Amino acid sequence: MSERKKSAGGDHLWRPFTQAATAPVPLAVVGGDGAYLTGRDGTRYLDLISSWWVTLHGHAQPDIAAAIAAQASTLEHVIFADTVHEPALSLAASLSERLPGGMNRVFFSDNGSTAVEVALKMALQYFANTGARERTGFLCFEGGYHGDTAGAMSVGHSSGFYEAYRPMMFPVGTVPFAATWQGDDRVEEKECAALAVLDEKLARDGGSLAAIIVEPLVQGAAGMRMCRPEFIATVAERVRRAGALVIFDEVFTGFGRTGTLFAAEQIDCRPDVICLAKGLTGGFLPLAATVAREPVYEAFLGEGFSRALAHGHSFAGNPLGCAAANASLALFDREDVLTRVGALGRWLETGLQSLAGVGGVRRVRRTGVIAAFDVGPEQGYGADIGQRLKAAFLARGLVLRPLGNTVYLVPPYCIEEEDIARAFGIIREIIEGTTENGAAGPDWSPA
Ligand SMILES: *Cc1c(COP(=O)(O)O)cnc(C)c1O
Repeated sequence: MSERKKSAGGDHLWRPFTQAATAPVPLAVVGGDGAYLTGRDGTRYLDLISSWWVTLHGHAQPDIAAAIAAQASTLEHVIFADTVHEPALSLAASLSERLPGGMNRVFFSDNGSTAVEVALKMALQYFANTGARERTGFLCFEGGYHGDTAGAMSVGHSSGFYEAYRPMMFPVGTVPFAATWQGDDRVEEKECAALAVLDEKLARDGGSLAAIIVEPLVQGAAGMRMCRPEFIATVAERVRRAGALVIFDEVFTGFGRTGTLFAAEQIDCRPDVICLAKGLTGGFLPLAATVAREPVYEAFLGEGFSRALAHGHSFAGNPLGCAAANASLALFDREDVLTRVGALGRWLETGLQSLAGVGGVRRVRRTGVIAAFDVGPEQGYGADIGQRLKAAFLARGLVLRPLGNTVYLVPPYCIEEEDIARAFGIIREIIEGTTENGAAGPDWSPA
């Protein structure tokens, strides 16, 4: 490894999801505003992935920045077990009000993975507390991703990231995910096949099932795989009928990404538990919430501590995170963010249509403001094609991070129509292999 690469990448950093031995020198970022990031040399980059799907209204959004600053000089943190504070009270009330029917009890933690761990523990103990100790099993979707802690890895085992960690994971049942895209004429067939597998598992193991965990409408890390709302509704309904709980992992899909504030609003079957993180604070601070329906909460009440949820993090209910989240939700009301999200969805659709006929572009799809397509044959997460495209996009000022051979855009909501149009123009050029300087474009063959 060259000296330059070592120092540019940081001699003391161990970066996430990165093979440091072969990764390019990371981009040194000194600032962010709106949909743009600024590099150390002053170059501006369009952030088309909302910095790993967290930034909602834009980088350094002034209202959220001010809310955090004000909170920091008032009450930065306090133990959350024996105290309560206004930012957490308002946030919990506000989430309950905005979530679909009856999601009343908000449990705070730090990130999407912990939100999922909490949901799994809630489901297990819910049944232990209600006298159904035999309900210990979990179902999940093929390709589902729920985070990188042990329980989240277990229910996300098929995402393919975790071979080395198998010994610390528990076994789960897996149901096929009926992924679809524009012009797909086999969607019903795929849904029927998936439901048949579900029915078979429920017939055999339904009595020992605690919960199913679902990424509603869009599987993010699996490669922005999308399904019809009816499919999720049917799965959830059948699981509920088998007596188990339904957990929606809206860590990614929450806060407008699917066009509605929550994906759950589009699904005709209410979950029992919802996990939120990523966009919860507008993307400013790590904060997560696991929200349960009242009957789930009530099952934890009683005289002894043994019925209580034995889970809590040092920074649970952090006032700074809550203040940021409250400011973000206030923006949804004041600036009618969901109307803007609707417009952004249409701009993305126009962009996707502009790729029609570009060689190698397949499986064009969009849900809300999540737009995706595949290029060339299917390849895994670390696929060379994704790495090469990422570098080519960055050289043209676009921050994109293909998942294998899937290129996707999940922009911050403040992005302008001309930014989207310009981005798709560049994407098209790069994919066509006709970059401005005439350099040869990527070929699609697996390396
Ligand atoms: C990112 C993600 C997680 C994990 O969240 P972290 O904050 O990265 O721990 C869980 N579930 C889904 C659906 C996600 O996209």
